[in-house]
Amino acid sequence: MDYQRVFSKAIERLHEEGRYRVFIDILRNKGAFPNARCFAGHNGPKPITVWCSNDYLSMGQHPKVVEAMEEALHDVGAGSGGTRNIGGNTHYHIELENELADLHGKESALLFTSGYISNEATLSTLAKILPGCAIYSDELNHASMIAGIRNAGCEKHVWRHNDLDHLEELLAAADPEQPKVIAFESVYSMDGDIAPIAAICDLADKYNALTYCDEVHAVGMYGPRGGGITDRDEVADRVTIIEGTLAKAIGVMGGYITADKMIVDVIRSYAPGFIFTTSLSPVLVAGALASVKHLKASCEERDAQQQSASLLKAMFSEAGLPVMDSTTHIVPLMVGDPVKAKRISDILLAEYGVYVQPINYPTVPRGTERLRFTPGPTHTPEMMRELTGALLEIWDRLELRKAA
Ligand SMILES: *Cc1c(COP(=O)(O)O)cnc(C)c1O
Repeated sequence: MDYQRVFSKAIERLHEEGRYRVFIDILRNKGAFPNARCFAGHNGPKPITVWCSNDYLSMGQHPKVVEAMEEALHDVGAGSGGTRNIGGNTHYHIELENELADLHGKESALLFTSGYISNEATLSTLAKILPGCAIYSDELNHASMIAGIRNAGCEKHVWRHNDLDHLEELLAAADPEQPKVIAFESVYSMDGDIAPIAAICDLADKYNALTYCDEVHAVGMYGPRGGGITDRDEVADRVTIIEGTLAKAIGVMGGYITADKMIVDVIRSYAPGFIFTTSLSPVLVAGALASVKHLKASCEERDAQQQSASLLKAMFSEAGLPVMDSTTHIVPLMVGDPVKAKRISDILLAEYGVYVQPINYPTVPRGTERLRFTPGPTHTPEMMRELTGALLEIWDRLELRKAA
């Protein structure tokens, strides 16, 4: 076996398809987001503007968050020192779980080291506990949910994205006694559309299914207290398990689920991805706690983000750029080709100091490669005008397709 050859072939395939991933080397400037420094060149760091951060509300730099983390670091030190069971269950963890349960109006919450792990661990464990369980998964669900469903080893049905008729058709075909879990997201992060949560819950009621909603791209940003789309639409009490991340709008790191006491106790007691790993650093937990508390009480960041997103969408569409039909804070521009998407991104960075990562397969289906902009409260109209101008120039230069 020529191992070297197999590995280099695998990498070559990615280059041939134009989707070999290059990470860019940056440092953000605290207090000046979206300004950052890029270390790609050879003559020292170059100033850039970040347009693709999932720190949607700049909470990762918020003074309250930074101070809470400094305070925790000086009070209790860097790491947690163990799993939740053995030495790593700090008072910060308990306090944040209480805060998150309250945010979603649930009895309990459980922290994980990331949103990815929370999805993987919860879905795989849930389906193993429920005998003969079938999971109904929206076709655009995130890789972490897919991993959980796969690791569950249970029966799986994929329903067409947001298609309630298809979901019902699949549910109706099953044995009424079979345990069922419907898994979906609230905000789909690559298209920027929203699930019909109330209608999904109606189907769950009709066919006696549990519901699992990934609110990763909505937590902090929607609803009067930032509880997500389930908060905005007042349906949180109808969803069995709400999952979220502390790494996006909350601005720190970590993931969680919230649900009733019994379900949280089951996941806590059976999920290997929760049990056999060191708990989050108390420093991270303290930061997330300050962020969640702040966003519960303040709508300023959410409102400013929505204004920024509307303005950028309007500018793109006025300029004839192929902005996708997003109903959320996510502003995707369709390119439809991996090589072109990478080329646009490279030119933006090299010539305009604009950082937006191309989004390629398998993050999105082939042929729908895109640039995904995430304007936030601190992206100014002036920055948006410059960005739109840069894109127009590149669109002409590369003779790309404009919107109809
Ligand atoms: C980012 C993401 C996750 C994973 O969250 P992390 O905290 O980054 O691990 C889960 N679900 C969706 C939809 C995501 O976009």
